[in-house]
Amino acid sequence: MLCKKCACENFPYEQTCWFCDNTMQSPAESASHQEEWNKLTAELRNEIEARITQQQVKYQEYVTNLGKKRVLHILTGAGIILFTDIITLTGSFGIFAFFIDTFLGSVAGRLLNANKGGTYYGLFLFVTAYTASAVIRGTMSSILEFGMGAFIAGIAGYLFGNSLEIKRIDSW
Ligand SMILES: [Zn+2]
Repeated sequence: MLCKKCACENFPYEQTCWFCDNTMQSPAESASHQEEWNKLTAELRNEIEARITQQQVKYQEYVTNLGKKRVLHILTGAGIILFTDIITLTGSFGIFAFFIDTFLGSVAGRLLNANKGGTYYGLFLFVTAYTASAVIRGTMSSILEFGMGAFIAGIAGYLFGNSLEIKRIDSW
């Protein structure tokens, strides 16, 4: 059973998620699943148990890995907004823009890492970061520059979010 909050695998009779403590089912549901579980043959139980345990190990590795790559993801986020700003530039790019882009991109990268990626979340974060940067830098008046920038930041955010997402069980 997948936890709805953190998307990791749990034993079907577990009431709360082993990883995030999210309540997944009521005591009654849990008891009924426990009953069903007990009715399975020992062989089948062992097989499912091994599979779930393996997925839990992978999940833990995935989360550990995200933690290790936090700085890399912050830098990537900053890079995306800087890059987007520079290649769509119609005006000048100064130290002020550099700091604004670095800051907003870092925040987006940090949030994406903390929330375990996601394509639409990545898209949302980076379009928002780019928009905020354009507003602060006062370049919103250039529709072409802004449109192109939001588009590029959105695609980059989408792909970035996809790369951070946990790969589904079947592809492991
Ligand atoms: Zn969970």
